[in-house]
Amino acid sequence: MAIKAVKGTRDILAPEIRNWTEYEERARKLFRRYGFEEIRTPIFEYTEVFSRGIGEDTDIVHKEMYTFADRKGRSITLRPENTASVVRSYIEHRMDLQARVKRLFYIGPMFRYERPQKGRYRQFYQTGAEVFGSSSPLVDADTIEMVVRLLRELGLTGLRVDINSVGCKECRPDYRAALQGYLSGHREALCEDCRRRMETNPLRVLDCKVQGCRTVVADAPSIQDHLCGGCRSHQEQVFHFLDMLGVSYRLSTGLVRGLDYYTRTVFEVISEGLGAQNAILGGGRYDNLVKELGGPDVPAFGWALGMDRLMMVLGDRKLYDEEATFYVLPVGNELTYAVETAAALKNGGYHAVVLAEAVSLKSGLKQVNRAGGRFVLLAGESEKEKEILILRDMKNSTQREIFARNLQKEIKNEIAK
Ligand SMILES: [Zn+2]
Ligand SMILES: [Zn+2]
Repeated sequence: MAIKAVKGTRDILAPEIRNWTEYEERARKLFRRYGFEEIRTPIFEYTEVFSRGIGEDTDIVHKEMYTFADRKGRSITLRPENTASVVRSYIEHRMDLQARVKRLFYIGPMFRYERPQKGRYRQFYQTGAEVFGSSSPLVDADTIEMVVRLLRELGLTGLRVDINSVGCKECRPDYRAALQGYLSGHREALCEDCRRRMETNPLRVLDCKVQGCRTVVADAPSIQDHLCGGCRSHQEQVFHFLDMLGVSYRLSTGLVRGLDYYTRTVFEVISEGLGAQNAILGGGRYDNLVKELGGPDVPAFGWALGMDRLMMVLGDRKLYDEEATFYVLPVGNELTYAVETAAALKNGGYHAVVLAEAVSLKSGLKQVNRAGGRFVLLAGESEKEKEILILRDMKNSTQREIFARNLQKEIKNEIAK
């Protein structure tokens, strides 16, 4: 039996892959305009990077990581997200000494053992950005605006930015206690997971998708009523800068994000095409994580975008320009002329393929048809003698002779038709 791809993984093939690469190129260019540099961390790390970086009491660390012992018995994990790895790298390379503010982005695969479903894979792809070394609310707004711009430039409409604050070390304990008090009065109505979360991490109950929990949460105390002065003024300034930058947003008091490390700003960008629960990206500020992972006391802000979902939202929309390929058909045993012709086309920046396998004109044209090609150049012995080529347009079923020396010019006219 033929071997298939592992469950929950897939091959990304043409033409779909063209949207992926075009997206990646555009994203890289845009991020550099904002002062970001790319970082590529390994796809696996010591397990500790994630268990400490993401938090032991999260679904990711609990049940979704691909963890294995390597040949020396060390515990290794395929990255389930990239922030922890980037923080590990930031600390390891003492990037805090290189620049006051360090802006990094990444694009690559992540791995989680989740139940496969539409648009959700066990190897999935994320684009992310992280800014280290600034606690300024402008960094929050600027980094959000960057990704909103990216999505807009891809042609997405119906985007919604939901934003909230999860407070800081000063004010969160107070809110946590108030929330815990409220939840313990509604213990019976909560799902089993939330009864556990209520003790360990009550803020995560606000994230629960179970209907019963959502009903309870609807009347829960709001963190907005518990923010300290510092967090409140930070939030007001983030809003101010978002207004300035032309990003519309909505205060969403129930938004907390699943991870423990966030402080102050958290946000999500929702594409209305995906339904209310489906954010394309999310992130926030994490001012304590670098220190908690053994690094300097450096504030940070970041987000991660799910590329698989983004591609789903893009659907049939093509990000790239379709460029014609010229199929050069040797006709007969003479390959040299076809090879020369293809080389001339490639020198001119055109796409050209020699149909070396075509045993006849008929089989050659059949190949081109199957590939969905349009232009064929017949370059056989008789054409070579006359220093001409026969240019055939499969779409319009026309053909004409052109002088080989005029190839570039003729091709240009043909494409413009
Ligand atoms: Zn605070
Ligand atoms: Zn629940």
